[in-house]
Amino acid sequence: MDKNTLILGPCSAETEAQVWETAKAIHTLFPKAIFRAGLWKPRTNPHAFAGVGEAGIPWLLRVQKELGMPVATEVATPEHLTLCLGAGINHLWIGARTTANPIIVQALCDTIKEHPTSAFSVQHSAFIYIKNPINPDIETWTGTIERFREAGVNNIIAIHRGFSTLAQNEWRNAPMWAIPFELKRRYPTLPIICDPSHIAGHSERVLQVAEQAQRIGFDGLMIECHLHPQEALSDAKQQITPETLKTLDLQFKDSQLKESTLIQWREQIDAIDNEIWQLLSHRMEISQQIGEYKREHQIPILHSQRYETILQKRLDWAKEHGISQEAVKQIMAAIHEESVKKQI
Ligand code: PEP
Ligand code: MN
Repeated sequence: MDKNTLILGPCSAETEAQVWETAKAIHTLFPKAIFRAGLWKPRTNPHAFAGVGEAGIPWLLRVQKELGMPVATEVATPEHLTLCLGAGINHLWIGARTTANPIIVQALCDTIKEHPTSAFSVQHSAFIYIKNPINPDIETWTGTIERFREAGVNNIIAIHRGFSTLAQNEWRNAPMWAIPFELKRRYPTLPIICDPSHIAGHSERVLQVAEQAQRIGFDGLMIECHLHPQEALSDAKQQITPETLKTLDLQFKDSQLKESTLIQWREQIDAIDNEIWQLLSHRMEISQQIGEYKREHQIPILHSQRYETILQKRLDWAKEHGISQEAVKQIMAAIHEESVKKQI
């Protein structure tokens, strides 16, 4: 997959003219972009615009045929999937609400396996983009990826669109970058693209998230673009015009240039990691000796006050050194847990 995959277009297909004009504007500015437009919109609010449905398929096909842009849309039921594959729309994304539902996901996978017009060609030609589930749960995300893999789909791409959390914070969906990082650790060759629109939730912050995603090294971006964002029938607040998007520098200019400096830093990091692990292993040996001593003298292993004291000391230290309190708590908890295991 192209490292700079761009999937651009409105949240929803609204009218034939809107689809056509938007696609043309995007195609002029971003000739390699894939065009996106949702036909069936899984809306949280039952009174919100739910999409034009099947009626929009010919609009997308016109873009595909006359502009030569691949087109992408969301499928949430086996019927959507069959309609799109039948029409020749083969860039299909699984929305956040669908990824979270294993029964629907399995029904979609079964539809691919049983597709009447040569399942083999569908498995090879379809591009299935899997958005993360709305809740911060990597297992549901990977479960859905696994189901499509087992259905034989060759081209699977993950989309990181942020996570809904109770905490009211600056984002519509908190990015929680650690989750896509973990996905990359588990599936090193799986392309992951970022959807800054649904993370930011506001047009003013979309470019900032897009830039961050590029710096992190995502394999592409899906961004909602509308010619008149304020008039959009869905997600009006977060859509941007193609011209606005053009102000973002969408290429990394000299990614190899600075590699030699990076190599030196990486060597230093490796050396520091060696030291850290040697020290940790020494710490564990001492824990083990403490464990033996406690057993001999029938002293209980857990001593919560001691742990609180150690932790507090580290938290105070972290404050002075600009390290996050949360990171210290997590690291200390992991070290403590391993120490207790050693003593047991
Ligand atoms: C969308 O892409 O318009 C959409 C509904 O996304 P999500 O499933 O990420 O909410
Ligand atoms: Mn949207």
